[in-house]
Amino acid sequence: MAIKAFGTHAADKPLEALEITRRAVGPHDVQIDIAYCGICHSDLHTAGAEWAGTIFPCVPGHEIVGRVAAVGGHVSGFAVGDVVGVGCIVDSCKDCDDCNHGLENYCDDMVGTYNFTTPDAPGHTLGGYSQQIVVHERYVLRIKHHAEQLAAVAPLLCAGITTYSPLRHWKAGLGKRVGIVGIGGLGHVGVKIAHALGAHVVAFTTSESKRDAIKQLGADEVVISQDPDQMATQAKRLDLIIDTVAAPHDLDPFLTSLRRDGTMVLVGAPPTPHPMPTSVNLIFKRRSLFGSMIGGIAETQEMLDFCAAHNIVADIELVRADQINDAYGRILKSDVKYRFVVDNSSLAA
Ligand code: NAP
Ligand code: ZN
Repeated sequence: MAIKAFGTHAADKPLEALEITRRAVGPHDVQIDIAYCGICHSDLHTAGAEWAGTIFPCVPGHEIVGRVAAVGGHVSGFAVGDVVGVGCIVDSCKDCDDCNHGLENYCDDMVGTYNFTTPDAPGHTLGGYSQQIVVHERYVLRIKHHAEQLAAVAPLLCAGITTYSPLRHWKAGLGKRVGIVGIGGLGHVGVKIAHALGAHVVAFTTSESKRDAIKQLGADEVVISQDPDQMATQAKRLDLIIDTVAAPHDLDPFLTSLRRDGTMVLVGAPPTPHPMPTSVNLIFKRRSLFGSMIGGIAETQEMLDFCAAHNIVADIELVRADQINDAYGRILKSDVKYRFVVDNSSLAA
């Protein structure tokens, strides 16, 4: 069945209305009517072919929430009408060490929600800027938030898990000082989650205009990262830093904010590399630099349940499909507090 979607045929073309098809519902599949889909900066990197390997036509979107419209005969965990989510993963090998440890995000055969090859037409996955999606039940998440929060839950499916996973892995919590760099889609959710985990949160931003709003998110301190005097106040103070910035930048001022054995985790994925940090900033104080990619399915469910229990959702600006191109332009200027979410009912127009 043909459904409506929004996507692009080339990196230098704006996104436009498209028709796509979804596979027939298989025995283990869940068919979802998509209500809302968040706009992640990864959508921009991919649609704009900033990373290698964009397959066109490209329909981005991996922060999906909606209702179950149909289930296959062997689906036991979901029923028609359930409120569900789909994040960045729609398949994996299901049998490797990573999958068996609930780390499908690190499976060599992980299939992303868009831009990954698949046997289904047209040969690659198409994401959540669309009316419907069909996903194996293993990769479908349960949403326990209130129904009226649904649009603001959508960004948790990527921004939420991408910050929750490293915060948990490196044990952010009571008695820890945690820095979040870049207060955009990922960063603003990261501030909320780190605060809810009990950490002392230091937000690093380039946007003076966001200062007061960032405090409202739960940050204990807000530091303008381009101001050396403000950066100096953080020297050797932090246990953990999560860097969400989507552009290459100097890592040294942040590394020097770490105390002994402190850890900096890169989750931002700029298309060109950061300048290599100065070795002594790692050597002195035995600091570490890591990366982290989204999170596994079980941990994504844990994150959604944690956020429901702590009443955490994203701060969003709801847009129609025909406003996606404008939204992309504003994201590039860091001009959104903090996540655009597409109202997928607008695709019908
Ligand atoms: P976003 O909403 O655009 O937020 C990025 C923030 O970084 C901006 O709001 C801005 O915050 C700051 N920033 C932007 N340009 C900067 C610059 N030149 N120098 C310093 N700071 C700058 O993007 P997002 O959706 O949060 O995604 C962030 C990155 O994470 C993207 O590269 C995305 O592809 C990547 N990502 C990775 C994973 C993963 O699994 N690792 C998952 C999802 C996304 P301020 O205004 O506060 O400075
Ligand atoms: Zn994303």
